[in-house]
Amino acid sequence: MTSPTPSSSAVSLPLPTVGRSQPPEDLPAAASDGTRALVDRYGRRARDLRVSLTDRCNLRCTYCMPAEGLEWMPTQQTLSDEETIRLIRLGVEKLGIRQVRFTGGEPLLRKSLADIIAATKELTTDEGIAPSTALTTNGLGLEKRAAKLAAAGLDRINISLDTIDPQRYAALTRRDRLSHVLEAIAAAADAGLNPVKINAVVMPGVNEDDIVPLADYALHQGAQLRFIEQMPLGPREKWRREDMVTADDILHRLRNHFSMRPAREPRGSAPAALWDAIAPDGTAGKLGIIASVTHPFCGDCDRTRLTTDGAVRNCLFGNSETQLRDLMRSGASDEELMEAWAGEMWTKKPGHGIDDEGFLQPDRPMSAIGG
Ligand code: SAM
Ligand code: SF4
Repeated sequence: MTSPTPSSSAVSLPLPTVGRSQPPEDLPAAASDGTRALVDRYGRRARDLRVSLTDRCNLRCTYCMPAEGLEWMPTQQTLSDEETIRLIRLGVEKLGIRQVRFTGGEPLLRKSLADIIAATKELTTDEGIAPSTALTTNGLGLEKRAAKLAAAGLDRINISLDTIDPQRYAALTRRDRLSHVLEAIAAAADAGLNPVKINAVVMPGVNEDDIVPLADYALHQGAQLRFIEQMPLGPREKWRREDMVTADDILHRLRNHFSMRPAREPRGSAPAALWDAIAPDGTAGKLGIIASVTHPFCGDCDRTRLTTDGAVRNCLFGNSETQLRDLMRSGASDEELMEAWAGEMWTKKPGHGIDDEGFLQPDRPMSAIGG
């Protein structure tokens, strides 16, 4: 897709750079107290753990899953609550993790979600405090559970919503559930999970016309909307680099309707470039744009991922992963698990390589890795 060049760009924020040009070869040893840092050869340190609690989902977003769904993992292959909590505990108490985000598939489908959040909140990070907890969800059923999840210790929430047009929502997710998601957003705010963040993936020829209405809705709800460039992770025919709606395209549309100024807060390792936006009626708030493809933030990446079936991954892309479930089930000690996890992180590549010639999508779909 082509678009007029905006006067300043969604991607004109500082480019992250990878710290070291001559990476060392050897994985650092554990400290004498048994703790380790999840570092890679380029000097990045993982502090943010993304845990996929299920690969199943009750929507079928066209950019994520085929209409018939995927072949779900058999339960015996997925981590039990005890196994999940053991690995989160090692991450937080021994490996330097400070934030745990629960995702999927659809994490609300995990019945024990509140218990897992509560168990995570009982842990202590290397800063001597409980880790922060977050949830990425499609919102279905949240209106009944938001207060309970907040009481269990959930700190933040991202709710996915790519359009506020009921027909388009039904076509895009293959389920007629828009009103439930809007109720979920209100319930999350009532439960004190503020600011509620809304994730919107923008797809060419599908929901570009929703950019302004979605932003307008979010500003008037007091929610923080973040537009996300579509990534090559769903059904293969659904993504072509030359067609994608870029962060600059999104910003251009927003600028035609809202007053937009880059927000002053430092971005750190946050993926969203934030903007202070003012609607024509004077309503002000923040909008974010996540340029995962056109302006990757790999140089500042602080993430590590745990899949539903117990593999740790150093990146959403690529195929590198290390199975901790099998190690756990064959009696591995905490030290052995931590060494395996640290070894996986050590091999993290400097970038995701989406723009490289010969880029191949990961074998696992996004819903099985945990988005
Ligand atoms: N089911 C939950 C949800 O939809 O929020 C959590 C899992 S979903 C895989 C996590 C996030 O990834 C959602 O915000 C979704 O829109 C986003 N996502 C899925 N496929 C994507 C793709 N191909 N490109 C960009 N974002 C994607
Ligand atoms: Fe389900 Fe989330 Fe994928 Fe949509 S994006 S199909 S809600 S996992």
